[in-house]
Amino acid sequence: MTKTYQKGHPIWCAGCGHFGVQGAIQNAMKRAGVELHETLVLAGIGCSGTVQNNIGAYGYHAMHGRVLPTAIGASLANPDLTIIATGGDGDGYAIGGGHLMHGFKRNANLLYVVMNNGIYGLTKGQDSPTKEIPVATPEESPLDVLMLGLSIQSTTFLARAITTRSEQLNDLMLMGLNHAREGKGMAFIEVLSPCVTYNDTYPQWMNKVYDLDADPDYRNDDRGKAFFDVNSLVQQSRIPIGLIYHGDHASLQSSLVSDVTPFRSLDDQHAERINQHMEDVLSAYAV
Ligand code: SF4
Repeated sequence: MTKTYQKGHPIWCAGCGHFGVQGAIQNAMKRAGVELHETLVLAGIGCSGTVQNNIGAYGYHAMHGRVLPTAIGASLANPDLTIIATGGDGDGYAIGGGHLMHGFKRNANLLYVVMNNGIYGLTKGQDSPTKEIPVATPEESPLDVLMLGLSIQSTTFLARAITTRSEQLNDLMLMGLNHAREGKGMAFIEVLSPCVTYNDTYPQWMNKVYDLDADPDYRNDDRGKAFFDVNSLVQQSRIPIGLIYHGDHASLQSSLVSDVTPFRSLDDQHAERINQHMEDVLSAYAV
């Protein structure tokens, strides 16, 4: 593979927001000086899931909704890797919704980027948890995951960007990448990344975003005030963007596994025991 591998090219529709997200990830890696061979990019199922084909780092296409537990496992197994988990809102908030809550709780050292377009693009536009459905079900509120993240006390980095504001998106991506690499826990960035084919929300979202980074009265280091302000904006049908919250909390690595030897440095005897154990397990299940 090292001789024949070639990174892929995006297969997205012209105008899809995901181009901007991929560009921001690559921009952040370059500015942070992160080498491709030191990076694992994981992706969930969906149009956004193909991003891991295009970057040229190690890649893993996880089962639907399972990108976070896979990424957390990778971050525990090899703490020297830079872990970038990606996916869409259907993958991460519906099928993977339970894992998202535990991802917020565990605060493992990784960057998780969700490309939110309000629908399942790959399967031709079914509603996702973030879709606004004013006619069909006017009483049903779309999910705001930043408020979910704010409600869990162990979150340390929560941000939202939109692909039309590339400078802010690039800066937030770099901050998130550095947060994860410095061992401060999970950096979560939701990017409003419209699907021009099945749910073109560019006009609505560009009018509705409210840039908290530009608001001198906003405090992104005060969880309670941030929750109050974000909730107020949501109730006014605005979409807050910017660095929503950052704070300190022990990462999963620092609180639970500081004395665990990573797999990569197991001595031969230990590795032999694991191999024997795996063979015993496999033979026990053999029919
Ligand atoms: Fe992007 Fe939508 Fe096309 Fe998928 S269907 S590539 S989300 S524009």
